[in-house]
Amino acid sequence: MTDPSPPAWLHPFCRPARTHFVTLVRGEGARVFDDSGRAYVDAFAGLWFCQIGHGRVRMAEAIAAQVGRLASYHGFEPFSNEPAEQLAQQLCARSGVPGARVFFTSSGSEAVDTVIKLVRHAHVLAGAPHRQTVIVLRHAYHGVTLGGTSAQGIAANREGFGPLVPGFVVLDEPDALDDAVRAHADDLAAVLVEPVRGAGGVRPLPAGFLARARARCDEVSAMLVADEVVTGFGRLGATFASTASGVVPDAITFAKGVTSGYLPLGGVVVGPALRGPLEADPARVLRHGHTYSGHPTACAAALENLRILDEEALFGRAHGLGEALRDGLGAALDGTRVTEVRGAGGLAAVEFARPDHAFETRDRMLARGVIARALSPTTLAFCPPLVFTDDDLAQTLEVFHASLAPT
Ligand code: PLP
Repeated sequence: MTDPSPPAWLHPFCRPARTHFVTLVRGEGARVFDDSGRAYVDAFAGLWFCQIGHGRVRMAEAIAAQVGRLASYHGFEPFSNEPAEQLAQQLCARSGVPGARVFFTSSGSEAVDTVIKLVRHAHVLAGAPHRQTVIVLRHAYHGVTLGGTSAQGIAANREGFGPLVPGFVVLDEPDALDDAVRAHADDLAAVLVEPVRGAGGVRPLPAGFLARARARCDEVSAMLVADEVVTGFGRLGATFASTASGVVPDAITFAKGVTSGYLPLGGVVVGPALRGPLEADPARVLRHGHTYSGHPTACAAALENLRILDEEALFGRAHGLGEALRDGLGAALDGTRVTEVRGAGGLAAVEFARPDHAFETRDRMLARGVIARALSPTTLAFCPPLVFTDDDLAQTLEVFHASLAPT
């Protein structure tokens, strides 16, 4: 028998030669089901996005209603649509950034690219075109477009794609921030940072880092950008973790949890420091935007998702859920096989001593019906839907402990 060839779908973040996949056909709450009817506990909320859980009939109805009304139209001059306007208003009100507006995209990567362009553009328009450097952190994940790839602090994701966008400085450690800002005092455009680095290993920032970054940026007239694609919409207990911690960034990127993944949507909360230069000349056109910026059906999905998050007070579940999860995972901490359990809000990661233990444990867990995600050969991560039940949690922990590779 010859090996089957790979499927027509060239999968993202996947070995292109892979031939076997788990084909999912249905979801309900924190459970998803494959084409043989097998159930899995989704302990990763899809890919960090499914706050309200899978299979919500209300989401289907809200989406269908908007498709029947006006499925799609662009927002280029002079057009607008009601769901996008309403959602922008709600996001501004919830963002904690006074005087903000919202720019919409269809993904987190597009949001990151947008904010890089807007920050650089705003400095150009404000008469400081030399301000083009963007400081990011090691282990940062900022998406996969050329801008986001260039902003990556995960070296493996940057390599092998030819010349990247210039002007990014990757700090090895958050502690290097003060020196780096000082060194780039004259050319710094922005510091771009995730409140908790997600895909780079679920790594919370040192206490007070965001406030320090805010102060350093203010000292040199640079902007602070929070990438909240993972940390937004309740994952850390609030709409945005940065503003909830008392720090007001100049811009915030979001995606994922804004619709709980029911439809693709992302965007940028654009604060006054960015708005000012963009709006200063009433005749000037912002020559940036996507066909689906402000897609009415994606925005209608976000509005319904926000209603569900509010009605069921799901933001309030993130911390308790994460603590219970980290406590349960912590029972495996032995300093030899499992060296660390870390996280924040509804995020958790287990650090293994031996390379490949993360992949092995992930595979064993999958075979037992629980989905976690290996972020590296040594890091296994959890990001449960905010509707995770006690049963979901108990099954996740039981399967995790049963799946640990022998020492
Ligand atoms: N920024 C952060 C912090 C992310 O975690 C991600 C995706 O995981 C992105 C940007 C890119 O988002 P997307 O995959 O929707 O393009």
